Amino acid sequence: SATGTAEIGVTGLAVMGRNLARNFARNGFTVAIHNRSFAKTQSLVDDHGDEGTFVASESVEDFVASLARPRKIVVMVKAGAATDAVIDELVPHLDEGDIVVDAGNAHFPDTIRREKALRAKGLHFVGSGVSGGEEGALLGPSIMPGGTAESYQWLGPILEKISAKVDGVPCCTYVGPDGAGHFVKMVHNGIEYADMQLIAEAYDLLKQGLGASAAEIGQIFADWNTGDLESFLIEITADVLQHVDAASGSAFVDIVLDRAEQKGTGRWTVQNGLDLGVPITGIAEATFARALSGSVPQRTAALGTLPAHTTDWQVEDRAAFIEDVRLALYASKVVAYSQGFDQIAAASAEFGWDIDRGAMARIWRGGCIIRARFLNRITEAYERNVDLPLLLADEYFTGAVGNGVPAWRRVVAGAALHGVPTPAFSSSLAYYDGVRAERLPAALIQAQRDFFGAHTYRRTDRDGTFHTTWSGDR
Ligand code: NAP
Repeated sequence: SATGTAEIGVTGLAVMGRNLARNFARNGFTVAIHNRSFAKTQSLVDDHGDEGTFVASESVEDFVASLARPRKIVVMVKAGAATDAVIDELVPHLDEGDIVVDAGNAHFPDTIRREKALRAKGLHFVGSGVSGGEEGALLGPSIMPGGTAESYQWLGPILEKISAKVDGVPCCTYVGPDGAGHFVKMVHNGIEYADMQLIAEAYDLLKQGLGASAAEIGQIFADWNTGDLESFLIEITADVLQHVDAASGSAFVDIVLDRAEQKGTGRWTVQNGLDLGVPITGIAEATFARALSGSVPQRTAALGTLPAHTTDWQVEDRAAFIEDVRLALYASKVVAYSQGFDQIAAASAEFGWDIDRGAMARIWRGGCIIRARFLNRITEAYERNVDLPLLLADEYFTGAVGNGVPAWRRVVAGAALHGVPTPAFSSSLAYYDGVRAERLPAALIQAQRDFFGAHTYRRTDRDGTFHTTWSGDR
């Protein structure tokens, strides 16, 4: 097919694609642009044509022909069937060695399938996570590209240039073969669910324990954002809580309906955690908490019906309570990340991806929704030991979390006594106690399984597999 001079192409020019194309252009790349309906392409040129060099095409054929080889085409359309439709349209016009990048939120099994299909045609298919929303796409997202290492030699310099930078280091690196990039983006989103739920629980604890207003709690979050918890999500939480609704004059958070929605990446993460047998309880509780918030008939039936048997929570030492909640939030957050990194390790082993977890923490330091100061600590932990079996057991985190354990217990106990639902705080503490236990009641479960199903058991004192004849005992 014909070739042109554009160094990178973007097809799909809704909010994300449009901003990504502008980001490429602002960084000096000649950008071929295309969208199913030409109006979006035209409007990009009209509104931002002066930001760099755009080559606009109305047809897929012209779009492909405007690109230099090997062609590098970023597909930024609605995830699912639209992505397949666009790939099918592109492929007949491509030449061997060309690179198609799906930068949408694809489910990683789709990426594995698409990579295989395009590889059979001599093309490179790169499934890339892109995080940071609209603003990140324009100003520098966190980018998680999977696919062949060879394709990254071509793409790496371009993607690293447009990515966010932290201390001069790009928030973009090669993740691993086929579905690895989209998998890591999926876990990123799962961790984002957990992080948001933990912050919401901390807010609720402060509200109920202190009887504090949204603005007062916003100030507490703003203070927290100057310490270990410093992160984008804590920062925006402080802003949201201090925001006043113009129409009613009430605190904004107080006029928002308390039903959290979801697009599905949290659900995918939990489903995969179940498939791989990795206890990602923080992400799971966060996903279920959103589901509970939307369980309207159940909530309606329970309201005023289920007895609480609690008393009002009157915290005496307010400063000590705030510090307890901060420590409990930090510890619970480390648990959620530790679990998410276990999931990445398990998938990496399962699919042969060889993912460097320290590098993942590094590229999440900027650009993405979970960007946070403490990700440096995770990178350092995996630099100390690339095969670290448990992030929580790294020397830094045993100290950082360990110091907060008494506070964590007080907060979770207080929440239980006073009827404040804290599924993520509570399950994170239960995980902590479970994973550090010398002996778990799983022994009893295994005995029960042998009793009713002859599933056998192993012994603490002898090698081998055993079965007990239980019938005589009944
Ligand atoms: P979107 O609303 O998900 O998709 C709209 C785009 O898809 C339009 O360009 C549309 O073209 C195109 N499209 C839909 N069906 C098509 C088809 N059958 N053939 C060709 N084109 C088709 O756009 P978005 O919000 O910019 O998101 C793009 C991708 O980025 C998605 O996968 C999304 O999940 C992911 N993502 C979004 C965010 C975010 O903050 N929004 C963050 C990270 C990742 P027309 O203009 O012709 O309709």
